Amino acid sequence: SVMAGEEFDDNVLNGKSHDNAAAKSAASDKIQEERKTLPIYQYRDAFLQAVNDYQVLIIVGETGSGKTTQIPQYLHEAGYTKRGKVGCTQPRRVAAMSVAARVAKEMGVKLGHEVGYSIRFEDCTSENTVLKYMTDGMLLKEFTDEPDLASYSILMLDEAHERTLPTDLLFGLVKDIARLRPDLKVLISSATLDAEKFSDFFDSAPVFKIPGRRFPVEIHYTLAPEADYMDAAIVTALQIHTREPPGDILMFLTGQDEIETAEEILKQRTRGLGNKIAELIICPIYAILPTELQAKIFEPTPHGARKVVLATNIAETSLTIDGIKYVIDPGFCKIKSYSAKTGMESLQVTPISKASANQRAGRSGRTGPGKCFRLYTAFNFQHDLDDNSVPEIQRTNLLNVVLTMKNLGINNLINFEFMDQPPSEAILKALELLFALSALDKKGHLTKVGKRMAEFPLDPMLSKMVVASDKYKCSEEIITIAAMLSVGNAIFYCPKDKRVLAENAKISFHEGNVGDHIALLRVYNSWKETNFSTQWCYENYIQVRSMKRARDIRDQLEGLLEKVGIELTSNPNDLDAIKKCITSGFFPHTARLQKNGAYTTLKHPQTVYVHPSSGLAEVLPRWVVYHELVLTSKEYMRQVTEVKPEWLVEIAPHYYQMKDVDDPALKKMPRGKGRIG
Ligand code: ADP
Ligand code: MG
Repeated sequence: SVMAGEEFDDNVLNGKSHDNAAAKSAASDKIQEERKTLPIYQYRDAFLQAVNDYQVLIIVGETGSGKTTQIPQYLHEAGYTKRGKVGCTQPRRVAAMSVAARVAKEMGVKLGHEVGYSIRFEDCTSENTVLKYMTDGMLLKEFTDEPDLASYSILMLDEAHERTLPTDLLFGLVKDIARLRPDLKVLISSATLDAEKFSDFFDSAPVFKIPGRRFPVEIHYTLAPEADYMDAAIVTALQIHTREPPGDILMFLTGQDEIETAEEILKQRTRGLGNKIAELIICPIYAILPTELQAKIFEPTPHGARKVVLATNIAETSLTIDGIKYVIDPGFCKIKSYSAKTGMESLQVTPISKASANQRAGRSGRTGPGKCFRLYTAFNFQHDLDDNSVPEIQRTNLLNVVLTMKNLGINNLINFEFMDQPPSEAILKALELLFALSALDKKGHLTKVGKRMAEFPLDPMLSKMVVASDKYKCSEEIITIAAMLSVGNAIFYCPKDKRVLAENAKISFHEGNVGDHIALLRVYNSWKETNFSTQWCYENYIQVRSMKRARDIRDQLEGLLEKVGIELTSNPNDLDAIKKCITSGFFPHTARLQKNGAYTTLKHPQTVYVHPSSGLAEVLPRWVVYHELVLTSKEYMRQVTEVKPEWLVEIAPHYYQMKDVDDPALKKMPRGKGRIG
């Protein structure tokens, strides 16, 4: 085998090239000193020796030991990047960006040059990039263009314990190419201590442990369950702030909405504390936060002040924030859940696992003794929390996985080596749906439509909608809608003191009860007419940040249309054509109105409701398609558009028959007189 030990030994021992560059300024001297204080530093040589000796290595080390930022640099210093890139995957976009920025700074290079990152809709790399941080999903995409990943000398699948869907798929794919490419090194790194499973999967690969430092953490439970964990979290933060010795706070919340609400409430309540109490600096962190704001969480807290970081799960292991002494853990996270029986997927706020709770607590004990406030009872912890989280592959719809695999030429899904096999009903459901979406033929092979769909970095149903725009001659409109949907749920905002104005602005986009998709299209087009004016966004209570992101995404989708040979065509006045196109992708998400404002999903009957934020929340059309389901107090459909039942049979004859859309109410009244007509 091609183990390149001798070639690199010189560099391994002294890492010279790097120290010279670092000597240039005092600032970088300081950074180099900091690097040496990380737990991994002592094991640098032993680690490089192990990489030299083995093709596959499992690395285990506590969060903050330096795995993500240091290992790729060590490999670079040892000369591995002379033969190809070092690729390091992250399950989360923010982590990929933030860590790349940190490593570029440590190396004294400009981000996007030697050190870069690649995430969906954003490629910040160049020909010179040798250390490439990327989301696991992006590496999966790269397999399509470069099946042997020849441009890489080392792959590091980081945060392996997260067991995201793309990472799980990468395990199997990487194991496969490692057999064909003895020169390729594979590192699997994880923050959990039970690495046996990874080792077993990779033919008993050795485990390299980085002994961490952990200070004792005092765990506090609530005596009774909390009815409102948000409120409890805020009260706890303020109590820590007013009563406890200095040290920053890390609060775990489930998503952007919660974080923004908490930020607002904390700002209000600290205003009332008067100036005897130290300043409380509030730092939100979630997936689509712009880079300038992300940097804020890493800045050292000024003397006399205290920082409270409001974070999603990202701060559990993906990002290390220094200076945290107090952790507030409400015990929840937002995850996708999927029922193979109904084929339905929804975002759900769910109790975390014991493993997660312990990771969270650990964040307070990195640099000194810490305290963790669990907003649930000790009994809850013992008896109600699962030991470990279920890997995503076992609780999600496999549409994307199956499409990706088919596109990689893996036709036999059952024989693919998974670390944990996905449920076979879920595979069958995905095959069935991809067939209904015309992405697969009867033999299960990718069709031309499926090939085109696989090019788009979107969920397959959105991709189908985009591909269908070719037929309905409205690709301009559809990629706008797809881009707006991809931004997530952050287009409109509604300040408390201007609620009426904000509501009115929003209503104007929904005029004619066109539905949420077309309202999003109108928002984008109106913004475009003002030449992308920021002022216009302010006046209409639209988040300018989200709009800019939508514009970037749209530009990329436009490029991809050209790549798959779909012409840019506009059909702005034919709303039915646009809606039919949406239906082409989202017909599996059809619901029919019942009594009392409740809907039933058509294929696998389940009761759902129109989300209160929808423009159709008070209109309640008889038939709708929706973008997604979110479970909060009820199962809500978010982003809803009215459709005609006959479209379903016309567009998806493999999926719906006339009897499915047989509508007794329509029979009673002459056609055209109902809402639909
Ligand atoms: P691990 O991957 O083992 O959890 P990391 O390599 O992410 O550890 O982090 C090691 C150290 O690097 C952290 O303790 C922190 O001090 C520093 N660090 C990481 N990311 C950043 C950043 N974006 N800004 C400032 N410091 C950072
Ligand atoms: Mg890490």
